Amino acid sequence: MRRFELLEPASFQDATRILAQEREKCLIIAGGTDLLLRLKKREISPDILVSLRKVPGISFFGEEDHSLKLGAFTTHRAIEKSQRIKTAFPALSDAVGNLGSIQIRNVATVGGNICNAAPSADTVPPLMVHDAKLKILGAGGEKELPLADFIKGPGKTELKKGEFLTEIIIPEPPPLTSSAYIKLTRRSSMELPLLGVAAQLTFSPERKILNGRIAISCAGPFCFRPRAAEALLSGREIDVTLLEEIGAEALKESKPRDSFRCSAKYREAMIPILVARSITRSYERCFRKEEKP
Ligand SMILES: Cc1cc2nc3c(=O)[nH]c(=O)nc-3n(C[C@H](O)[C@H](O)[C@H](O)COP(=O)(O)OP(=O)(O)OC[C@H]3O[C@@H](n4cnc5c(N)ncnc54)[C@H](O)[C@@H]3O)c2cc1C
Repeated sequence: MRRFELLEPASFQDATRILAQEREKCLIIAGGTDLLLRLKKREISPDILVSLRKVPGISFFGEEDHSLKLGAFTTHRAIEKSQRIKTAFPALSDAVGNLGSIQIRNVATVGGNICNAAPSADTVPPLMVHDAKLKILGAGGEKELPLADFIKGPGKTELKKGEFLTEIIIPEPPPLTSSAYIKLTRRSSMELPLLGVAAQLTFSPERKILNGRIAISCAGPFCFRPRAAEALLSGREIDVTLLEEIGAEALKESKPRDSFRCSAKYREAMIPILVARSITRSYERCFRKEEKP
């Protein structure tokens, strides 16, 4: 591995200054679980790695304006252990609970998972159905961007040189809302998804769907929301006909391909099944919660 310098600024101001000055030579390092592998394989060769670990406010849980805020350096393990996330954002809890191993989850961060922009990133489908926004800081100031507009392709994001992710903002879901993330793998741990599907549904007291979001990963160059399938959800009750319609529509909007991990045909067969499962699980979670004495 090529030698590099590690800088650990103690404030957002210092981090912004360093990243602006050294923009061509440096990269952010968070947990390093993706980055260090790429360094070892010599896919990248930065002169400087900038860790934000010592910056106050880069790893936290907070509440503001009816939203949950997560610092970009919050680890998957901290999210997994959060009862608040399990209750309000169960799809995200599903995703981090089965990401890598405990050792990986102890160091790897949610911001790293998003910024790495792998098509298989486990936190992206849940955060998309939770309608997450990202706070980005750079020499030009601060801006907010929906996660849905952030990832542009495998390894490609909207981040400009010198910019970095500081926060993930997740709006509080309305009442009678629940969600689920289903990860398809060949074994039960330490594996990236062959497919990942998240759903978040809001119901009326009569159990009709008021609003629904679906996000699918590993079925295209980046995670996407099948909008035509989502449009079929509104005003409907969950039954076999609806699940079949949504699954078929979601498949039409997907572009799975062959990879060394599985064939496009297998992915095509599994997309409708995973979409139906994520919807059913969201429904069951929502009303199981309701029916508790
Ligand atoms: C054994 C193993 C198993 C794994 N299993 C899974 C799995 O099941 N599911 C899954 O989704 N992933 C998995 N991964 C991949 C990896 O652990 C995750 O993607 C992790 O969340 C990356 O976070 P990190 O903090 O380690 O990021 P890093 O490796 O530090 O950074 C990743 C990229 O994001 C950039 N970056 C990081 N933070 C910021 C920021 N705040 N602003 C701007 N850019 C930033 C870095 O410059 C780098 O390009 C696995 C990895 C390993 C080694």
